[in-house]
Amino acid sequence: MTDTLATVGSRLAELVALPSVSCVDAAHDMSNADVVDTLAGWFGAAGFALERQHVAHGPDKLNLIARLGSGDDGLVLAGHTDTVPYDDSGWDSDPFTLSERDGRWYGLGTADMKCFFPIVLAALETIEPARLRRPLVMLATADEESSMAGARHLEQAGRRLGRHVLIGEPTALRPIRKHKGIAIGRIVLAGRSGHSSDPGLGANALDCMHEIIGDLKAWRAQAAEQYRDTDFAVPGPTLNLGCIRGGDSPNRICGECELMFDIRAVPGLDIDAALAELTAVVRARAAAAGIEGRLELPMAPLAALDTGADAALVRALETATGTAAASVAFATEGPFLNALGSESVIFGPGDIATAHQPNEYVEIARVAQMIDILRDLIERFCCHD
Ligand SMILES: [Zn+2]
Repeated sequence: MTDTLATVGSRLAELVALPSVSCVDAAHDMSNADVVDTLAGWFGAAGFALERQHVAHGPDKLNLIARLGSGDDGLVLAGHTDTVPYDDSGWDSDPFTLSERDGRWYGLGTADMKCFFPIVLAALETIEPARLRRPLVMLATADEESSMAGARHLEQAGRRLGRHVLIGEPTALRPIRKHKGIAIGRIVLAGRSGHSSDPGLGANALDCMHEIIGDLKAWRAQAAEQYRDTDFAVPGPTLNLGCIRGGDSPNRICGECELMFDIRAVPGLDIDAALAELTAVVRARAAAAGIEGRLELPMAPLAALDTGADAALVRALETATGTAAASVAFATEGPFLNALGSESVIFGPGDIATAHQPNEYVEIARVAQMIDILRDLIERFCCHD
């Protein structure tokens, strides 16, 4: 195991040294091609057939699909190649140089989730490809941290890669089968300004927004009652009023007003239907006030993850860890893969508490455990009848 871990460490160091930030702000957005090329070299050498998918978005962005065997009933080991941007000043060591301290590997993307790919390779070391009866697929995606463009691209291609999907996002080795979906909305109202002494001289966008906020709160109360799911710490859907801007002066009718909110939807709540309903509310209120109103979506909504409690991979990971599958508060690429008929479970050695912040690290002991667990899963799902 010592040699195996040393190899994992040196491969992880290579990946950490290749910047692959993805960001909705184009100024920070980078290509992930170097990471994909490195993975292609490793998995190609291990006998995998390689396929690169160009994701139509921003600078050079790629998904890599590496496959041993054919068919769509096997095991998929999936991860993203990108990291979030970093804040140089908060780090005790260079974020792009892997640093080992106190049984941990520090570096940008160690936990979330570059460590996953060297772990997959380590788990494969003792498995003879000729023994595979069902296919094993390694999927490395682009832009999970920003737009999920890589996973969206896969879903749009409409090809299921395998029945069982393990996504190695940081869960501290706890199997996760559920998370909420996310929608971000922006309501834009354009009325008419005028002198405050006579309301008839304009159309007040702030008054209209006040009515709409009442409707949003009523929708929220009703949804929380209708969609209760006690697998979540916050058991219902939420709608957060996040920021509002409007008007410029107390003695002028407010001509324009903008509100942004987010919805966190439990499984079962159809986000698209909810947004259609809220769009109709905005239009009706605006029309009644004689102003223009619309609901915009700055980001395409993300569906909730709801993999069945009795899915084979859920059960296998519960047995391997002695831990019941749970839910998390963050979103993943799982819903895109489940939409293709796969059963996705989120399970990785990093801890979400250390991700997306300075001094990100992964515990080396958990990396060693993850290698053993993955090896057993590959045996069970790909090598046995
Ligand atoms: Zn991640």
